[in-house]
Amino acid sequence: MDTKTIIENSEKHLFHLYNRFNVAFVKGEGLYLYDAEGKKYLDFSSGIGVNAIGYNDKEFNDYIKSQVDKLYHVSNLFYTDALPLAAESVCEISKLSKVFFTNSGAEAIEGALKTAKKYGQLINKNKTKVIAMQHSFHGRTIGAVSITGTDHYREPFYPLMPDVHFAEFNDIESVKKLMDDNVCAVVLETVQGEGGIYPATKDFLTQVRELCDKHNALLIIDEIQCGMGRTGSIYAYFKYDVMPDILTTAKALGMGLPVGAFVVNEKVANSSLVPGDHGTTYGGNALVAAAVYKSIDIIKNRKLVDNVNNLNDYLDETLDYFVNKYDFVKERRGMGFMKGLVVEKPTRDILEKSLTEGLVILSAGKNVLRFLPPLVIGKEHIDEFKEKLDKVLSNI
Ligand SMILES: *Cc1c(COP(=O)(O)O)cnc(C)c1O
Repeated sequence: MDTKTIIENSEKHLFHLYNRFNVAFVKGEGLYLYDAEGKKYLDFSSGIGVNAIGYNDKEFNDYIKSQVDKLYHVSNLFYTDALPLAAESVCEISKLSKVFFTNSGAEAIEGALKTAKKYGQLINKNKTKVIAMQHSFHGRTIGAVSITGTDHYREPFYPLMPDVHFAEFNDIESVKKLMDDNVCAVVLETVQGEGGIYPATKDFLTQVRELCDKHNALLIIDEIQCGMGRTGSIYAYFKYDVMPDILTTAKALGMGLPVGAFVVNEKVANSSLVPGDHGTTYGGNALVAAAVYKSIDIIKNRKLVDNVNNLNDYLDETLDYFVNKYDFVKERRGMGFMKGLVVEKPTRDILEKSLTEGLVILSAGKNVLRFLPPLVIGKEHIDEFKEKLDKVLSNI
């Protein structure tokens, strides 16, 4: 099928909720994607931070295939041999105690919210307040949009979950104003992704942690996008020396198989949800459990976090080249392989022209170009990225 036919056939029956680009991919290999006409694209998006080891990785695919042939689903009424391997890996890399696997990031957020609500209820009936951040993004379910700090994601769906209050990210006074003993949780991203690539400051995160401790509120850290090594640390909170009470993680957790998780410390595990409070049919089935185990195994064995740190400065220099060369490129932001360029031009147009050049990139917020390359890139891919984006920006 050619691209035109694929698009026509898709739009015939899909509920039109995405303004997709006019590209149909049919194959991926390493760092490159191929469309229906065989055109090759360098991927600096990783399927929105998911495909951290690129495409068609033999070791990963073989592992998944062998799990498919053995067993992929039996429900959570039973144990499987794949599940404890995944659970142990997640607890080890997060330095937390207990994990619950979900089918998506938003569901991890739902679970984290239910955990925090129950934790609050067990202390006092009024401990229901949740503090979330402006410009945050936590997913598309009702619970997740309730704590997402962007009005247009929220307004069509009122009334949402009650007792959510928004503070300014990186403004500790705004959190202090909202904080009291009726807060059950503060929820934030270590590096805001969709909101425009804003890393938390060390002071801010440290002081939020202290405020949570003072008022016995849980700190929920959403590393669905910035986790799994992307910032140059397996979870970004280790860079800040701040531990969450609840972590939400997804995206690269399964390298594209649909899996997320919320992970809790010992205190939360012992004083919140109990059997009967929460559940899922598919969550953590043998197939995605194998994906989680193998994803973490590969990130560790191939030293991908080191690769991010080794190339961080080179990627920054490359992005600074654009800031210096083009007046409309205002600023570089981000950490590791989670980077943004602030531009004073329509980002959709730049993304479309990048596709024409054979480069896949993303946008974030209103005016940020977002780059989430696979963690396996080398210097030569950054050079190729630079050459392609330079061509695009010089024609804007
Ligand atoms: C992508 C994302 C989510 C939502 O994950 P889904 O799998 O799309 O439900 C939540 N939080 C953050 C920070 C994300 O980047």
